[in-house]
Amino acid sequence: MSNETKILLPESEMPTQWYNILADMPFSVPPYLHPVTFEMMGPEDLAPVFPMELIKQEVSTERYIPIPEEVLDIYRLWRPSPLYRARRWEKALNTPAKIYYKWEGVSPPGSHKPNTAIAQAYYNKMEGQTRLATETGAGQWGSSLAFACGIFDLECKVYMVRISYDQKPYRRIMMETWGASVVPSPSMDTQAGRNALAKDPNSPGSLGMAISEALEDAVTHEGTKYSLGSVVNHVLLHQTVIGQEAMKQLKIAGDYPDILIGCVGGGSNFAGLFLPFVKDKLDGKAPDLRILCVESTACPSLTKGLYKYDWADVAKTGPVSKMHTVGHNFIPAPIHAGGLRYHGMSPIICALYDHDLVEASAYHQNEVFEAVVGFARSEGFIFAPETAHAVKAVMDEAIKCREAGEEKTIVFNASGHGHFDLAAYDAYLNGTLVDYDYPEEKIKAALKELPQVDG
Ligand SMILES: *Cc1c(COP(=O)(O)O)cnc(C)c1O
Repeated sequence: MSNETKILLPESEMPTQWYNILADMPFSVPPYLHPVTFEMMGPEDLAPVFPMELIKQEVSTERYIPIPEEVLDIYRLWRPSPLYRARRWEKALNTPAKIYYKWEGVSPPGSHKPNTAIAQAYYNKMEGQTRLATETGAGQWGSSLAFACGIFDLECKVYMVRISYDQKPYRRIMMETWGASVVPSPSMDTQAGRNALAKDPNSPGSLGMAISEALEDAVTHEGTKYSLGSVVNHVLLHQTVIGQEAMKQLKIAGDYPDILIGCVGGGSNFAGLFLPFVKDKLDGKAPDLRILCVESTACPSLTKGLYKYDWADVAKTGPVSKMHTVGHNFIPAPIHAGGLRYHGMSPIICALYDHDLVEASAYHQNEVFEAVVGFARSEGFIFAPETAHAVKAVMDEAIKCREAGEEKTIVFNASGHGHFDLAAYDAYLNGTLVDYDYPEEKIKAALKELPQVDG
């Protein structure tokens, strides 16, 4: 038992391997299909957009994959990240529950995302690429990749969803500071963008649109590959440093979680925390452990979407995968948690959800901000609006513990800070934050446009 507020690991205790859940899944994760032919995709189909090492990792069934020394060296800038015990918030909630949070906001861009950005930039550099193209919503992923490309001396082109580009200049400035070039999407730089602008010159853009542009950029430019910040297997793999560290830190604290909680957009930050614990569950060491994925009511892929094959992007250029989806054409309401607005979900998480190994819930933004402001007043840290969704779910579980008189251990992933999202806090504090109800008709319409494939 320790009475520390934050449990720190020395650098020497940083994980040196990523944990690959595909080695231990007792069921298969459905394969990617070609966006046009719907044939199973092989490595040669992915080679135009990803470096070979990442393609190998995407389908690998090796349980542990060594982290290259060069990547570990950059991780050391902020890893191991601290695990905090939220004692003041526990007291404020008057709960017997023990609440811990793994704080990923300590990285230079301020979120978990560089855990994979650094690895991806490294493998591209090793395979002779000179430039990476990607999309970003509010700029969390773009800034992480810009940081990574800066470190490995790669050019970086970021297609930033127009509405965020206009409304949220600070992450763009961050990206430019690290040397990236950033354009609003839809842009005139790709055919997909020009088509969209011809239809609607004032298009606010969407993540699906920006993905189409970045994919097209990668296949039409020499020395350029595409880079993805969530959803796919290799991204979840890289994030498992979070859970491996958390396990060691909880051991130091003399604790083991009863409930793990995290927000899910594409699913990478939370999977990074929970996948090493899923192994414990599968090994029979933690039969009662609950794993709770939290999403936004404005984009409820797990809680309201269908488990069907769907395209990754609007232009249908990315692979088709089986996932819980609200439809590739669904444009979610402009909630402040930009990272929770993706129409699909990690196929690994969807398979686990389908087999009842993880649960899901969804919240509106006002209740989420009420919870996270309460957290900030107890613990100090001002979390990203995405992270705030996890905080609300933790609060609800902690209150249940109070009512039942149960001293459960709750651990959540604090995926990032909200220093560039203060306008959202302002809207909440001023009472002008809007809740978006789930537009059932719109999701139904979007689901009609799914590819016609079995499964
Ligand atoms: C991008 C982002 C998310 C959502 O993405 P996941 O892949 O689901 O983790 C959550 N929190 C923060 C801070 C983010 O930047």
